[in-house]
Amino acid sequence: MLLLIPGPVQTRPEVKAAMAQDIAPWDRDFQAVYARIRERILAVAGGIPGVHATLPIQGAGHFVTEAALRSFVAPGAKVLVPMNGAYASRMARLAREAGRIVVELPLPDTRGAVAADILPALDADPSIGTVAMVFNETGSGIVNDAAGIGDALRGRGVRLVLDAVSAFGVLPFPLAEHPECDVLVFTSGKCLEGMPGMGFAVARMDRAEACAGQAGSWSLDLSDVLAHARRSGWGSIRFTPPVQAIAAFDAALDLYEAEGGQRARLARYAANRDVLYDGILALGLRPYLAREEQGPVIVTVHQPADPRFDLMAFVEALKRRGVLISNFYNTAAPTMRIGTIGAITPDDMRRAVGAIGAALDEVLPRAA
Ligand SMILES: *Cc1c(COP(=O)(O)O)cnc(C)c1O
Repeated sequence: MLLLIPGPVQTRPEVKAAMAQDIAPWDRDFQAVYARIRERILAVAGGIPGVHATLPIQGAGHFVTEAALRSFVAPGAKVLVPMNGAYASRMARLAREAGRIVVELPLPDTRGAVAADILPALDADPSIGTVAMVFNETGSGIVNDAAGIGDALRGRGVRLVLDAVSAFGVLPFPLAEHPECDVLVFTSGKCLEGMPGMGFAVARMDRAEACAGQAGSWSLDLSDVLAHARRSGWGSIRFTPPVQAIAAFDAALDLYEAEGGQRARLARYAANRDVLYDGILALGLRPYLAREEQGPVIVTVHQPADPRFDLMAFVEALKRRGVLISNFYNTAAPTMRIGTIGAITPDDMRRAVGAIGAALDEVLPRAA
């Protein structure tokens, strides 16, 4: 089966094989792996050793995103969320339910947000101390200008919390160049092509320590993750992590480095995206985004207007042809989402386009 979803992604055999072992999380051999992964992530993040640290939180992306919001935005403090997609809405909800004051900034979901979108909202309310935003919006496929927005926040004393879950490892945001960023978060099962199960924050240690005690949750307190590492070592764990997923992630990082890191992976995903985007047009379907707004992680496509079209039936017809895409969408207009990330190549995408055409013919038979 070819998995074309924006996470958890198709993985390589080496990654799957690394899971086939029993592991004690406090074992010295595993602690070495855990500590090494933290260093490798810091390098991918372009962080500064001694300034930034990798702070793992087990679970899905929402858990580490909530941890970042709780740990770096004080209870009752204001956080601006540029609202241009499903994951932005999720960030807003996580912050609101944690008792932070969310200022929503509505923006179109068909283009990436830039600094000029954000600054008027900050001018209008100087009590906003943090911007929390999504880097790559996995609902529609747009990419927000995290670097440009970060640059604009710097010097205003406004902090940045970045959901880089579907961007990390592919879209660059070097933390060394972005001191305004308190924390970015991502997970093991997206562009680094590991298994799902582990979230990672990469954070400024000075800010984590300055914010200590405000998370209002022990399990989701990144300052406590840092304090524990300082006390007990970078290989130590607070609570049982998904040890097999972590072992697999170490193998996934080997493959990432062997491929050529961020540039090479972005080039492969962009090539996947181009084959799919062209193929979708050739099939007479309509992409949700204009080509210049189309990011490299997910291509969202309008469902055919034909009233006979049923997404679930189409996904099943496609699955019978060896290709699995999401059976739900999260844009206002009815769409379908096709991932271009994971251990897949442009040849896989060509095969997928052929299968999409055949599945369409099955669910929407042309009149004879
Ligand atoms: C996948 C994703 C998440 C987290 O999703 P989980 O299902 O909780 O892992 C958060 N933000 C973005 C942008 C994502 O793509």
